[in-house]
Amino acid sequence: MNGKTVMACIEAAHATLKEHTEEIAALDQQIGDGDHIFNLLRGADALLGLRADIEAEAFAPALDLAASKLLSTVGGSSGPLFYSLLHGMAKASGESGDVASVQDAARIFAAGVDAVAQRGKAGLGSKTMMDVLIPVASRLAELADSDASPEAVLDTLPGVAEQSMLATRDMLATKGRASFLGERSRGHIDPGARSSQLMIDAVCARLAQDRA
Ligand code: ADP
Ligand code: MG
Repeated sequence: MNGKTVMACIEAAHATLKEHTEEIAALDQQIGDGDHIFNLLRGADALLGLRADIEAEAFAPALDLAASKLLSTVGGSSGPLFYSLLHGMAKASGESGDVASVQDAARIFAAGVDAVAQRGKAGLGSKTMMDVLIPVASRLAELADSDASPEAVLDTLPGVAEQSMLATRDMLATKGRASFLGERSRGHIDPGARSSQLMIDAVCARLAQDRA
């Protein structure tokens, strides 16, 4: 994997966010302030503008470049959180930063998710994007332990992400803006869980397509 792979994943994420803009805006209007998808699209647009620079880099510096750009363009809670995800992944990728195995991918993604957890102080069950990121990282770790093929991983994770996203509907929000609603936060899917799930789905599909 290199900067071109990173850029292809960014494009896939951007396309799915565009496609689901209205839906995610509506979710954030229900339990947040409605800006989540627009924050993310601003970031994704900025990353598309950096295409040549990102593509020219190796994997880890490409992720880091994207991370810094997100920090300066995405507002809200999610800007620093996505910065932490990508920067944490870059740090764990080491110098060459190649993702040569499912084990590498599991270690790198887990490091990114840990960085988000440290930044946002949310664990499982707070009704945030963590309720998608943590189960996906856990399943990826299990798949790595059982020596699953990359194809099996890319086929399995979207389902894990989807189930996890749907499970946020019944949760009580205890972190972020939605927590101000208390019990009224129940009955709505968390917008950050939905956007994260969609991006995971799109990135897996894109990586699977590259391997086909
Ligand atoms: P804001 O809530 O500041 O307007 P956004 O609208 O960009 O920020 O993002 C809202 C999303 O961020 C939520 O749907 C939730 O998934 C996620 N989020 C909020 N707080 C946290 C946190 N402490 N840890 C992880 N994710 C969080
Ligand atoms: Mg918001």
